[in-house]
Amino acid sequence: MSFPSQESLQKYAELVVRVGLNLRAGQRLVINNPSTRGVLLHTAPLVREIARAAYRAGARYVDVLWGDEALLKARVQEAPRDSFDEFSDWQIKAISEMLEHDGAHLTIRSNNPDLMNGEDAEIVDQIQKVYLQKYAEFSQKIGQNLINWLVIAAAGPVWAARVFPDLEPAEAEKRLWEAIFSITRVDQPDPVAAWEKHVKELRSRSEYMNAKQYAALHYTAPGTDLTVGLPPGHFWNSAGSTAQNGIFYIANMPTEEIFTLPHKDQINGYVSASMPLSYSGSLMEGFSLTFENGHVVKATAERNEAVLQKLVNADEGASSLGEVALVPHGSPIAQSGLLYYDPLIDENAASHLALGRAYKFTLKGAENLSDEEFKQRGGNVSMVHVDFMIGSGEMDIDGLRTDGATEPVMRQGEWAFDV
Ligand code: ZN
Ligand code: ZN
Repeated sequence: MSFPSQESLQKYAELVVRVGLNLRAGQRLVINNPSTRGVLLHTAPLVREIARAAYRAGARYVDVLWGDEALLKARVQEAPRDSFDEFSDWQIKAISEMLEHDGAHLTIRSNNPDLMNGEDAEIVDQIQKVYLQKYAEFSQKIGQNLINWLVIAAAGPVWAARVFPDLEPAEAEKRLWEAIFSITRVDQPDPVAAWEKHVKELRSRSEYMNAKQYAALHYTAPGTDLTVGLPPGHFWNSAGSTAQNGIFYIANMPTEEIFTLPHKDQINGYVSASMPLSYSGSLMEGFSLTFENGHVVKATAERNEAVLQKLVNADEGASSLGEVALVPHGSPIAQSGLLYYDPLIDENAASHLALGRAYKFTLKGAENLSDEEFKQRGGNVSMVHVDFMIGSGEMDIDGLRTDGATEPVMRQGEWAFDV
């Protein structure tokens, strides 16, 4: 019997369309994976179920951009060395057109985390930069919370082999699907009800933090002593928000975080990553960042330090932070003890920060500010947004009140307050 069953894929597809995207009758849907320039071919059985579920929910039109990692690699290895600024704009146009027609956007990730390992970091970086510039308009729309969008994962052979290196290929892929169905609650008798309960719990955490309006958070753990200022009006988000098109949606499945933005000029101290980070096809391991007045002044890594250096130097904002997210160490993803080598899932295993762009919807009244106005209020602007994990069972976090007093937010990786 093949795995996953048609039935599980259908349950997953229904959850994605009805709960995650909350697709409204009459909307269009574009299915994509920006990081591989299209959704990967091996995910087609899931893509087809999602298209069916979308049409059943009243979607007017579903369009899919297909991508292929082998093609991306072929280009890096074989294309003329002076050709990496080439880009065909049709993809951007296709997405923009979908969004203009009341579209929603779904990303399905199933990436090979080591795709670009050993390739020329300069070329990989250049391709990434051109792509980010072209996608800037779309990223901006996401930051303004204009539309309902969602990022999910699907198992794939190469990715599964990375997560379960000791298993036979078929068994590894089966285990990865099972893990995905477990952390997205697809395997529960009533996944929709399970999500409603989960969303409510996360929301009461974010409401507590919103009422506190701490001036800063102070993180301590082995290798970490970091103070992150929070701008006045910062807004803690959690699973689910209402887009400007009026639709309540959940941007990530799974999601275990509550998150807001830091003040881009008020980050001081040092922080060590608690998990490796896969970025642009390279895995960075054992890395630490030192901040002064909001900017990285030192970046070291045991593996792929060159990629990390390129990342923090991608543009002015890439050396500052755009997201502060809290995830308890008891999260089901952390407790599974697995490393997924994909930020979508790994970021929900641990408290994390993101280098680069802040989401405007994490600052009250900032959704439609210009970049300049947003920066004046402490928001970071950049082409990149890359989450990296810092939380562990050894991390303490304190909230600094405006009167100078401190209150515990997390102790040894767990929430230190009741809601
Ligand atoms: Zn996050
Ligand atoms: Zn993020």
